[in-house]
Amino acid sequence: MTPAAALAEAFSNEPYLDFSKPEVWAEAESALRHVRTQAGREYPLWIAGAEQRTGDLLASNNPSHPAEIVGRHHKATADLAARAVEDAHAYFPEWARTSPQHRAELLARAAGLIRERKLEFDSWLVIEAGKTWPEAEAEVGEAIDFCEYYARQALKFASPEALVQLPGERDDLVYLPLGVGVVIPPWNFPLAILTGMAVAALVAGNTVVIKPSSETPIIAHLLAEVLHEAGFPPRSFAICVGSGSVIGDVLVEHPKTRFVSFTGSRDVGLRINELAARPRHGQIWIKRVVAEMGGKDAIVVDREADLDAAAAGVAQSAFGYQGQKCSACSRAIVDDPVYSQFLEKLEERVAAITVGPSEDRTNFMGPVISAGARKAILGYIETGKTEARLIAGGGVAPGDGYFIRPTVFAGVDSQARIFREEIFGPVLAVTRARDFHHAIELANDTEYGLTGAVYTRNPEKIREARETFFAGNLYINRKCTGAMVGAHPFGGFNMSGTDSKAGGPDYLLQFLQAQSIAQKL
Ligand code: NAP
Repeated sequence: MTPAAALAEAFSNEPYLDFSKPEVWAEAESALRHVRTQAGREYPLWIAGAEQRTGDLLASNNPSHPAEIVGRHHKATADLAARAVEDAHAYFPEWARTSPQHRAELLARAAGLIRERKLEFDSWLVIEAGKTWPEAEAEVGEAIDFCEYYARQALKFASPEALVQLPGERDDLVYLPLGVGVVIPPWNFPLAILTGMAVAALVAGNTVVIKPSSETPIIAHLLAEVLHEAGFPPRSFAICVGSGSVIGDVLVEHPKTRFVSFTGSRDVGLRINELAARPRHGQIWIKRVVAEMGGKDAIVVDREADLDAAAAGVAQSAFGYQGQKCSACSRAIVDDPVYSQFLEKLEERVAAITVGPSEDRTNFMGPVISAGARKAILGYIETGKTEARLIAGGGVAPGDGYFIRPTVFAGVDSQARIFREEIFGPVLAVTRARDFHHAIELANDTEYGLTGAVYTRNPEKIREARETFFAGNLYINRKCTGAMVGAHPFGGFNMSGTDSKAGGPDYLLQFLQAQSIAQKL
């Protein structure tokens, strides 16, 4: 099917491969073997439409086996970072003039190329990001979905709804791209979030400078390969690997940077927002900042809930990808009459969780991303031991990787640090609430507001949750992770970010500006 014909069909989410099927597993193992033959390769930068090498290398490794170097990456200097912005600025007018239909078709082609190389992408996510196979597969599916969805959205903004036509006038609204966008993704969805942020901006007609996370730069190179092959012009995007602390400010502060699309921690997001707000010499616009940040997400379990479903949803949301999702459940808030019964069910589920190398498909949890992350999470676990009652986990799991056991604290007070601060690891705080109303109050007692869920069979309580649970993504009787493109536009309130709603119908507006044209007839 041609890309144009594919785009004429309605969007639907990418189906997942089932790794329990022997034939799928055999192919996955073979893809992983192939990918490992390339481990340790050197990756150049991609700036101003050409490869660049600085000789100053950053190594990315496999968190399941930290001695395994998976890639070596030339790091950009501050001068190269500035050059990346300047060249993207120089090329912008040419790219902005291409037709939205053409850009959307390139994106549909990119979706197809990722689809063809799915198991290869899965394998890199397993060995560079420490994802288990199903988590990797879900992420690759999400990246494909972003391409397919935003390609269709770009066509929608190219033919906006007709305006009121005043007598004797032709009145139009047209959407124009902004300019150069700096795209800064986190390591925890190094493909899906990077792809979503980059292609949304590109398909809208902007050029982008991508600064991948230093933990997961290979995935960014894979995306670059796909974009090149799909036909995106060499100068429409740059891949600028390097530490955020060295080149981050250069990219954000550059006067030719028109917008920053960031996903990551609260502190880095706030810093970017502040730096971007200050106009620099020669700058003629207010920079836009899209910042999607952290969470301290809660699941409320009511006395009228299906407790088995609730325990399953909490365990899945808290420990999937080792709790390293912004949407992860880090607080379970449980109604008093079912508190003990819920804890028993949860303990049973957590005891069955297997932890180990992520390439082994029998493990539900793999490693956390790095030695630094492990140290910080273990620090929170020690704090938790002084603040609450440890009922599961509480330390490292065996193996040479960065493994931490799924950890649950019960009886956590709402003033405890483990109730209030984002830990970003497999640590769950369970808190007792007096009743449903109090449970929602506790869930809202946070500076964040990203995801949340409620388990109850009572329609009145569902209504109350819909009206009062203050989270960008609210789920009823299901887990609070696993947002699907098109169905669950994603973004948080308060310190969780600017609520840009990735994967939703308005997302592309972040990267467009509307021009109103009135012509006297
Ligand atoms: P992070 O430390 O804030 O880093 C995110 C990105 O910012 C990385 O590419 C990082 O580069 C870069 N960076 C660091 N310092 C910078 C600076 N001064 N200027 C410009 N860029 C800079 O976050 P992370 O550890 O990668 O990701 C985990 C966080 O992301 C969690 O808080 C999680 O909740 C959040 N997150 C939010 C969402 C959402 O949609 N709301 C989704 C996923 C993750 P280096 O790697 O080179 O430092």
